[in-house]
Amino acid sequence: MTLPLIILAIVALLALHFWWRAKLRRVREEWQSESAARSSREQADVAEAGARQDALFDSMIEGVLVLDETDRVEFVNRAFAQMFASVGVLRGKALLEAVRLHEIGEIVQRAHAEGRVIDHELRLPGEPERWLQVSAAVITNVERRRLGTILVFHDLTRIKKLEGTRQEFVANVSHELRTPLSHIKGYAETLLGGAKDNPEVATRFLQTIERNAERLRLLIEDLLTISEIESGRVRLDLQSVALNELVDGMFADFHGRAGSRDVKLASEVPELLVRADAGRLEQVLSNLLDNAVKYGKQGGNVVVGAKTIDGNMVEVSVRDDGPGLSAEACARVFERFYRVDKARSREQGGTGLGLSIVKHLVQSHGGRVWVESELGRGAKFCFTLPAA
Ligand code: ADP
Repeated sequence: MTLPLIILAIVALLALHFWWRAKLRRVREEWQSESAARSSREQADVAEAGARQDALFDSMIEGVLVLDETDRVEFVNRAFAQMFASVGVLRGKALLEAVRLHEIGEIVQRAHAEGRVIDHELRLPGEPERWLQVSAAVITNVERRRLGTILVFHDLTRIKKLEGTRQEFVANVSHELRTPLSHIKGYAETLLGGAKDNPEVATRFLQTIERNAERLRLLIEDLLTISEIESGRVRLDLQSVALNELVDGMFADFHGRAGSRDVKLASEVPELLVRADAGRLEQVLSNLLDNAVKYGKQGGNVVVGAKTIDGNMVEVSVRDDGPGLSAEACARVFERFYRVDKARSREQGGTGLGLSIVKHLVQSHGGRVWVESELGRGAKFCFTLPAA
């Protein structure tokens, strides 16, 4: 009895052993597959968060560069790569290899030394001119140990350009105002100093004062028009305008001015309807006709023409047979305060703003403006407008 019992017990133990092994294997397998699922879930979560973070950084217009504690690149976003025209992998590279600008290395050093955010403006080398604002901040852990540095780059080029244009405009306006004002002051002082007692001299001086006051008035009017157009406050009252009738009406007003230079005005405008603000269109044509009479040939001809182009636009032109414009002048003539001959323009009461106003007004109608000219061969100013 004892032996079978012992054998039975061994078999039972073996069965128990194998049962436990099988159970253990199952439990381990289950545990492994569960933890694999858990870790792959965690990995997926981490990857998703990383992708979301990358998408967030890549959607920023500011360039971002993250350095590790040894000042090697850990991360850059898309805007940074574009700003610095970086190609290839930057991760792991030294800072200077990534930006090639010692100034940025110095900013990082200052951020490390001073432990605060450092802001700095810098101009990138080369052309065209580009400006960046760099902000550098140190990343630390709770024990204030430095883990890395983050640099944010903001493109200041547009702001700098606008600032430059504004400064140039203010300088030009001040200069333009100063000349007639100093004439007015000078002649008034001379009159008060005794010239008023000589009626002939006094009349001449008073006429000069009046002429300069008129120049100031014209300048201020043109400046107000420009500021009105640029601020977007101009509301166009768009209507169907019969261009030929408008031009004929304007010729009547220009009769005296053209006559004083013996200039003949002619219209070759067919019966055409344009979609425009009649008052503003008159301002455009008036500036162009005024210039053609002023700068064209004494005793010459000024012709206004028009034709339909591309079916839905009308091209209008004002041409003269005067001295014309050089290629350089043609390229710059629509700039504010640009004049080929400053003295001549001033003498004729010009402000240097007429063509700039023409350009703005034509563009606000959805058209474009240009000049065709060669020195000694007259000038043809053209613009387009939508057909009505
Ligand atoms: P301004 O008040 O001086 O006339 P504009 O902006 O109207 O200013 O014109 C700018 C400059 O372009 C003028 O000073 C002149 O030198 C030149 N210009 C304009 N129209 C003509 C033209 N028809 N022929 C030759 N030069 C012209």
